Amino acid sequence: MSSSIPAFEAGTSAADGPISRYLDALHDRLLPLRDGEIATYIPELSTADPDAFGIAIATVDGHLYTSGAAGHPFTIQSMSKPFTYGYALRSCGVARVLEQVGVEPTGEAFNSIILDNVNNRPFNPMVNAGAIAVSELMPGDTPEARLAMMMDFFNDLAGRRLDIDEAVFASERDTGHRNRAIAYMMLNSGMITSPPEDVLELYFKQCSINVTCADMAMMAATLANHGTQPVTGRKILDPDQIRDMLTLMSTCGMYDYAGQWAYEVGLPAKSGVAGGIFAVIPGQAGIAVYSPPLDQVGNSIRGVAVCKEISRDFGLHAFSDRTMVQTVIRREYRASEVRSKRLRSVAEIAVLAREGHRIAVLEVQGALFFGSAERLIRRLAALAEDCMAIVIDFKRCSDADPAALRLIEEAVARFGEAGPDLVVTHVPGDHPLRALLPGGARGTGRVLTLPDTDTALEELENDLLSGFFETDDLARFALKRIDLFHGLDEGCIKALEGAVSSFQFSAGQQVIREGDDANAFFVVASGAASISVTLPGGQRKRVASVGPGQSFGEMALIDGGKRTADVHADSAMICYAFSVDRIREIAKARPEVLTTILQNLVISLTTRLRMANDEIRNLV
Ligand code: GLU
Repeated sequence: MSSSIPAFEAGTSAADGPISRYLDALHDRLLPLRDGEIATYIPELSTADPDAFGIAIATVDGHLYTSGAAGHPFTIQSMSKPFTYGYALRSCGVARVLEQVGVEPTGEAFNSIILDNVNNRPFNPMVNAGAIAVSELMPGDTPEARLAMMMDFFNDLAGRRLDIDEAVFASERDTGHRNRAIAYMMLNSGMITSPPEDVLELYFKQCSINVTCADMAMMAATLANHGTQPVTGRKILDPDQIRDMLTLMSTCGMYDYAGQWAYEVGLPAKSGVAGGIFAVIPGQAGIAVYSPPLDQVGNSIRGVAVCKEISRDFGLHAFSDRTMVQTVIRREYRASEVRSKRLRSVAEIAVLAREGHRIAVLEVQGALFFGSAERLIRRLAALAEDCMAIVIDFKRCSDADPAALRLIEEAVARFGEAGPDLVVTHVPGDHPLRALLPGGARGTGRVLTLPDTDTALEELENDLLSGFFETDDLARFALKRIDLFHGLDEGCIKALEGAVSSFQFSAGQQVIREGDDANAFFVVASGAASISVTLPGGQRKRVASVGPGQSFGEMALIDGGKRTADVHADSAMICYAFSVDRIREIAKARPEVLTTILQNLVISLTTRLRMANDEIRNLV
């Protein structure tokens, strides 16, 4: 056999450690397993080295782990069958392919000459009859064109140029009389119509493609990666075609061992008589093993042993599912327990503590699919009974499949005029849920989308509080009603009124700049402002916001140093400003002005410290 292909170079990063060590230990443990016979019915295969033994795993992002002779070339044989089936699905469509070949396991040997006479077609594409029938579907006007088409397809799957082992091909062609009999029988019953020798030539060439374990792992990883080759990024097959291929591999891929394999390994797989086996871990990786000695049914003995161990050790059986639908709601809280960063008066805080339970926040995490979406919408329905508003925070949820989208779309459509308000946050433009939301293709318009949960909470708190306070009544913020001046007598308030100047800011305007001298403090009369800091990376982080009656910049009274944060008006805003010098002046005659303000300031700083603590707690 040809050995012209250089050994495949595996990655050697630090991440290889545990998995490479595992594969090496597995390889060394199974190498002494010397049972089984090398296939000899294709004479050229009998020259294989019984101790050539390689293992490879390729991940869906193209990382390759190998052990032993993973770069040793051998012929693909029946491992090609799922792929040519996929090619036929892609080029002819499912309906045409199903006319040519069925999907039933046979219970017969791979080379049986039995056809499904009821449906007038071979039982499935994993037995020789089915694969030969599929070979006829390869598009192209001439044998050369069809061969080129097929090789291009396998090259794309492997991500490199493959070649045909001419010696094996010649050996198969010269001795493959049983396959010849199958092809002529299918011609006789009209299942194939092309000249059998042409169809067989392509089929024998397909079986004689040289591959290595590394190639097969990469091809398996292409199936695991929903049809996109992990290294080249080329989209080769559609997810629907992959599903059909994997289904047939699961039911018919391991000759007469398919049932036992499904029971013990539980991964879609295909073996070939040259000693190769590949298995697919959907969404995760591809596994390939090469070791020529075969068992009674024609599967590589070491290959089966390797797959059994890997599946067991890493819990990969398709039915040993560990999906945790119950963790979809990461955290649930009410506005009575967690408040927005908006600084509030004592009276407002009291209302939020009492009434905030009517605003609920759900933090969703992980992928949304049928089971997790069902949990989410059931919880939403329960909350809708007693809440005036619900926020769903999708920050930790990046994926939603079509089933989840359908369920959420229906659930969301029921919110609106009658039910509570629904606000969704952290749903960027490329999020799968985006299409369902206002501004998206199917958005209902009855749901509000906001960038983050703090903004959502702040708006909903404002709505709630507006039922208890006339928040935009300027007169309400007569100085004596402001928390910072709480406890001062009429005389002191009068003195302060003489010291105040008022300023107007437009939305977005900067009021305070970090690093500037701190020589005045402000009280919001109307509108709101955000206090933010610049993070080391340059991004801005909003640490608090202030609305009517709240003060900011009061640190100036304590240390008179530099500003430690930026303040921007969120909307049109009117502020009262007090110069620190003027306050100190007043305090000469009325010392209680300063002591009372400082006392109130301590209370407000304590509140902010608690908020900062809560925020840190929420980070974990
Ligand atoms: N070329 C071989 C045959 O047709 C493939 C058999 C196999 O790998 O199962 O007999």
